Amino acid sequence: MTKPHKSPNTTMIMHCLCFLVFLAAMQGTQAVDYSVTNNALNTPGGVRFRDEIGDDYTKQTLDSATQFIWTLFDQNNPDDRKDVQKVSFFVDDMDGVAYTSNDEIHLSARYVNSYGGDLKTEITGVIYHEMTHVWQWNGNGQTPGGLIEGIADFVRLKANYAPSHWVKPGEGQKWDQGYDVTARFLDYCDSLKSGFVAQLNKLMRTGYSDQFFVQLLGKTVDQLWQDYKAKYGN
Ligand SMILES: [Zn+2]
Repeated sequence: MTKPHKSPNTTMIMHCLCFLVFLAAMQGTQAVDYSVTNNALNTPGGVRFRDEIGDDYTKQTLDSATQFIWTLFDQNNPDDRKDVQKVSFFVDDMDGVAYTSNDEIHLSARYVNSYGGDLKTEITGVIYHEMTHVWQWNGNGQTPGGLIEGIADFVRLKANYAPSHWVKPGEGQKWDQGYDVTARFLDYCDSLKSGFVAQLNKLMRTGYSDQFFVQLLGKTVDQLWQDYKAKYGN
C-alpha cells in the first residue's frame, strides 16, 4: 500500500516545527526601520552626498552598523538592547560633523562638501560612531560625556574605520578626555579582558560609577590610565 499524501498528523507536525523555527529566528532579530532624508540638495554638500554616498548605501550602512554594535556589545537577545524601532538619518545644511538625538542621526552637508579624503570611508565611520549613540546605555544620564564619546569611537575603531589623524595608543591627557583618546584607552582595557567594553555597557544600563572599572578589571580607572600611559612610555 502506498501513501501518496502525507497524513494530516505529519502535516500538522511539520507546520508546528516550521512555526517553532520561525519563533527561534524572531528571537534573534529585532526589526529596525531606517529612513534617509537629504535636506541639503540645494547645497554642494547635499549634492555630493547624493552622488558619492547615496540613500541605498546609507541605509545598508545604518543596518551594518547596528548589527556590528549588537555583536560587539554582546546583545544577542533583544531584551538586552534598547527598544528602538526606527532610526532616521538626515543630511542637513549645518555646521559641525554630525550628532544624534532621539534616534535621529544628523550629518552636516557642509562637512561632506569640505572633506578632502576618501569621503565614503569617512562617512561610514561617522555612521558607526553616531549609531553607537543610538544603541549604547548612558547610565541613566550619569555616564561621563567623555566615556560616551570614547565608546562611540571605540566601536568605530573596532569596525576598522579609525581615521589616520587620530591620536596613537598611549596619547592623551586623561582617561575620559573623550573620542579617540578614550577609545584607545578602552581598547587597552579590552585587551586586558576581552569583552570589557560590552560588560561596561551592560553595567551602564541603570547607572554609572567609576567603580565599574574596579569591578571588571580589579583596578581603579586612574591606576589603569597610569598603567596604560606607562605601557607606551608616556
Ligand atoms: Zn558622538
